[in-house]
Amino acid sequence: MSDEPNEGTGGWTERIEALRGSTSLLHEASARSERLKRLEDHLREHEVEYATALTADLGKSATEAWLTEIGFVIGQSRYARRHLREWMRPRRVSLPAVARPGRGRVVPTPLGVVCVIAPWNYPLHLALAPVVAAVAAGNSVVVKPSELAPRTAELIAANLPSVLGTDICEVVTGGAEVTAALLTERFDHLFYTGGGRVGRIVMEAASRHLTPVTLELGGRSPAVVCADADLSVTARRLVWGKFVNAGQTCVAPDHVVVERAIADRLTSLIAAEIEAAFGSDASMSADYGRIVNTHHVDRLEGLIRESGATTVIGGQIDRDSRFVAPTVLVEPDPSSSVLADEIFGPILPIVVVDDLDSELRRMAEGPTPLALYVFTGSDQRARQVLEKVPSGGAVINHTLLHLAVHELPFGGMGESGHGSYHGRSGFDRLSHLRSVLQRPTRPDPRIAYPPYGRVAQRLLRRLTG
Ligand code: NAD
Repeated sequence: MSDEPNEGTGGWTERIEALRGSTSLLHEASARSERLKRLEDHLREHEVEYATALTADLGKSATEAWLTEIGFVIGQSRYARRHLREWMRPRRVSLPAVARPGRGRVVPTPLGVVCVIAPWNYPLHLALAPVVAAVAAGNSVVVKPSELAPRTAELIAANLPSVLGTDICEVVTGGAEVTAALLTERFDHLFYTGGGRVGRIVMEAASRHLTPVTLELGGRSPAVVCADADLSVTARRLVWGKFVNAGQTCVAPDHVVVERAIADRLTSLIAAEIEAAFGSDASMSADYGRIVNTHHVDRLEGLIRESGATTVIGGQIDRDSRFVAPTVLVEPDPSSSVLADEIFGPILPIVVVDDLDSELRRMAEGPTPLALYVFTGSDQRARQVLEKVPSGGAVINHTLLHLAVHELPFGGMGESGHGSYHGRSGFDRLSHLRSVLQRPTRPDPRIAYPPYGRVAQRLLRRLTG
């Protein structure tokens, strides 16, 4: 589709109408499976091209490109194909006496056209994983990849419509103005991943057509390390979760909150793990990514400079190659931006606390994070932390891995968004769950209709309420 509205083939409105009409093509599970299989085959065949684009956009290594982007989408799609018939099957419900005899079912039906608006940090994964859910649920899609990952966006635009079929898929490229224009169109669902500022724009635009919205937003996901945690494993898992994709992950542990008794030991273990993972100069590591653009390099540089913290490791920046070293800051100024804003880069502040419970209370009063990580040897302590601090998702004794579990719905709450997907939750999110009640015409006792006599009143009161 052109990135200019209402040009060429007659404009977006007509094209979106045509896509809406095509959802009948995906009535059968086999048709949906076939499209998804085509997507998987295409990604496998062109893995190198996609990995190269991801390296150009974000300096991702081939391993990371496979694990967190290409392989992730293939995995989601295979899982959906394997379970599609089960998910599509009408779900029987039991009936209350007043509706008996009869048959009640919940029938998942397609919504129509789903518009997917994707961000730049996992530009393939976050454009295509919602597409997998949308197609599995029998919808057509319009995809708007992020302009800030241009090489990946180009590949998606060049290939996705022909791979899935131009009858059910369209890609629109361009920046904020194009997205804003697209948002004036009527879709049947808007699936947005990105920051809260644009999330609000999307939700406002959706209200014009009463379009349902899924918002996958971000926020500051904390990692809480209790004194009884296994510190060496904790350090390794924190380093992995924080520095994958150079910290540009929506569920990266934003900062670490640690009890004072173990703070020094944890800090040195984290520094040692960074060296073990990326060497003494991470710019030479094949496994360490780059920042998406110089605007974000400058932003991160400012966060470090104004943090008022001790830099334990890292701090090196090379603007030209968009390199920001894995950086650990101990005890930043409580009023600094590095502790107020989402970092979204390879900076790990360590906040040392004397009273963990009062810190948890403070966290619970702030915006709800997308993820919460707790490191502890005690199940009871983990439960307590989870009870005290709400979050979109949570992991005990690891980071990020909940994303890899197909049957764990992935999504936020409050400031971190609403609506979940992955596996069956994505299928349900992008379906209309239609209630169908079927009754035989007989028996049809007259007593159940007005005028209600005393016997009917007594009977109806007993059968309801
Ligand atoms: P971004 O700037 O790439 O924007 C995302 C999309 O919004 C793009 O397609 C862009 O064209 C569009 N857009 C930008 N400005 C717009 C405007 N004024 N009007 C209409 N559309 C506009 O991405 P970003 O917002 O920088 O992404 C980073 C944020 O996304 C972080 O906060 C991160 O935590 C969050 N995120 C969340 C998830 C999740 O799954 N919950 C995943 C990745 C990123």
